[in-house]
Amino acid sequence: MSLSLPPQTHEHLGHTDPDCLFCKIVAGKIPSKVVYQDDEIFVFHDIHPWAPVHFLMIPKVHIPSLAHVGDEHVGLLGRMMVLASKLALQEGCNPYPEGGFRLLSNTGSEGGQEVHHLHIHVMGGPRPWLKG
Ligand code: AMP
Ligand code: ZN
Repeated sequence: MSLSLPPQTHEHLGHTDPDCLFCKIVAGKIPSKVVYQDDEIFVFHDIHPWAPVHFLMIPKVHIPSLAHVGDEHVGLLGRMMVLASKLALQEGCNPYPEGGFRLLSNTGSEGGQEVHHLHIHVMGGPRPWLKG
């Protein structure tokens, strides 16, 4: 009987796309200012920030958009939401209710999505912002 070992790296948890910008960032092939990472989540600063605090949260696996998630992603998405709040404060957003932050996940062309690897924008800090 063969023994199957648990997956050790994110490549085994799911698909990565060699042509995807954010997969390349996760793999370290394109540099980024990393905020946080664990086995399944990668967080880095947006290269063109709209707000004093602006970072992107992505799954390490290549999920093209929020339109592609299913029941198997409920845990992952829940952990991303919980982490967003924690990292927003860590990165300099002021506390709720005077401060706070905004989450945004552009989905599809009409939703304004430019990079087709699921991501959640987390923005915050004193206004005015460039947009949003
Ligand atoms: P979206 O329009 O929601 O697909 O947003 C994609 C985001 O990725 C934009 O806010 C870009 O500024 C950001 N972005 C593009 N390339 C990079 C990069 N190399 N490092 C960090 N952020 C990036
Ligand atoms: Zn990708």
